[in-house]
Amino acid sequence: MARYEPVIGLEVHVQLLTATKIFCGCANHFGSDPNTNICPVCIGLPGALPVLNAKAVEFAVKASLAINCQVRERSIFARKNYFYPDLPKGYQISQFDRPIAEHGWLDVPTADGSTKTGAPGDRSSSPGWKRIGITRLHMEEDAGKSIHDGFSDSATRSYLDLNRCGTPLAEIVSEPDLRSADEAFEYLTRLRENLLYAGVSDCNMEEGSLRCDANVSVRPKGQKEFGTRAEVKNVNSFKFVRAAIEYEIERQIEVIESGGKVIQETRLWNANEGRTYSMRSKEQAHDYRYFPEPDLPPLIVSPQFISETREKLPEMPEARRKRMVAEYEIGEKDAHTLAVSREFADRFEAAAKTARNPRRVANLLLSEIGGRLKALDLEPEESPISMAGIVEAADLLDQDKISSKQLKQLFDICFEKREDFGPVYEREKPEQITDSSAIEMMVDEVIAANPKQVEQYRAGKTTLAGFFVGQVMKASRGQANPALLNELVTKKLAG
Ligand code: ADP
Ligand code: MG
Ligand code: ZN
Repeated sequence: MARYEPVIGLEVHVQLLTATKIFCGCANHFGSDPNTNICPVCIGLPGALPVLNAKAVEFAVKASLAINCQVRERSIFARKNYFYPDLPKGYQISQFDRPIAEHGWLDVPTADGSTKTGAPGDRSSSPGWKRIGITRLHMEEDAGKSIHDGFSDSATRSYLDLNRCGTPLAEIVSEPDLRSADEAFEYLTRLRENLLYAGVSDCNMEEGSLRCDANVSVRPKGQKEFGTRAEVKNVNSFKFVRAAIEYEIERQIEVIESGGKVIQETRLWNANEGRTYSMRSKEQAHDYRYFPEPDLPPLIVSPQFISETREKLPEMPEARRKRMVAEYEIGEKDAHTLAVSREFADRFEAAAKTARNPRRVANLLLSEIGGRLKALDLEPEESPISMAGIVEAADLLDQDKISSKQLKQLFDICFEKREDFGPVYEREKPEQITDSSAIEMMVDEVIAANPKQVEQYRAGKTTLAGFFVGQVMKASRGQANPALLNELVTKKLAG
């Protein structure tokens, strides 16, 4: 392993979240009864003509901008010819030498210090980060699905569901810049995050709305030319992509070490066995005979449309995290947790804005709520305490109406009874001591116990009032009425 360097490039297909298909008005919907969302266009009946879906173009442009691609003003659809039972037309409308977007990139954290740096000041030029080039993003239509049923030798049947035919896809091809399975995993994670933030796809791998093919080769360290690559298909989770790449690296090194040659081929990942199998070699590989699609004019995307679309993009994950680190004074890791989904981060920030101290909301969410969720193995959406509940708790804490110990106890009850903070606080609200003579006694005790601080206070260090208030609050187990307490402390300290 130490003598070899892996080279990896990823091809990712994402289904775009349009209401209808890319070239016809059929519903773009996962899970309908088989062959119910089809028409002459998407099943390729003779004479039917495609009409490009404007929303699909908007989403493709959005996706391109979300991964820092340059959008081409004039792109060309092309026919990619091949036979497959779930491709009734005998060709797929795709883009070939003039895709809608090119020259993108994503920055990923890497264990290996090697960097392909961007401009100074870019994240990619800081240590531990690396810029992965994105060759292109092109638009195409998805094919249908074959479903194979029955495993006995006598009764194997295959069925065709053409609902998926004509689903709009963006194919995103990376440069061969990745050097480990972990880097590939990071790249995919960030790619998915950006697409989710942009709102162009649900990126649901189980439903096939995000699919990844991994191209893997190895070369002796120091060699300039790339080795021969194998393309691994059929991998349906990021963890499996990582495992498949790791397997493939080992396999290819073994082939070379034993005097053999890696052949260019397509391999299938078998998750049950944790290995890849050869599917077809280059000899059998397709010649797609691409040619410009005669039924569609060139696609023109105006600079104005591009800038309008850019305006519609939300703040992207990296930028958002950077701002959160500064705004809430939290670490990068915590910002990562808070910004993991756009929806969650939006809810958090909308709530935090209404609090007396937004940083406190962030801290409660990360420590008190996060800790409890983790202990119970719950997802953030499963928290019984709403964002409004956290804000309420944070404000009470901020005003010294409850102590942090009481807050912890109240949160415990919320999680135990699966109730929001509001009702739990109303019911369990710690009793307040409003009897001024009782508070006075406690103030006297604290003053008597801290002569040095009293002296300092009287010498002008008035900020020490907070110390006395805190001590008495502690002694009262958080139950002293804060207004009364403040008043008494100031009065007593004055002498
Ligand atoms: P194809 O369309 O035949 O799959 P491409 O040239 O478009 O071929 O490359 C597909 C992917 O393979 C890209 O992500 C690219 O970065 C990657 N790639 C190309 N050559 C190599 C190689 N030698 N090793 C690993 N990945 C490679
Ligand atoms: Mg390929
Ligand atoms: Zn249709």
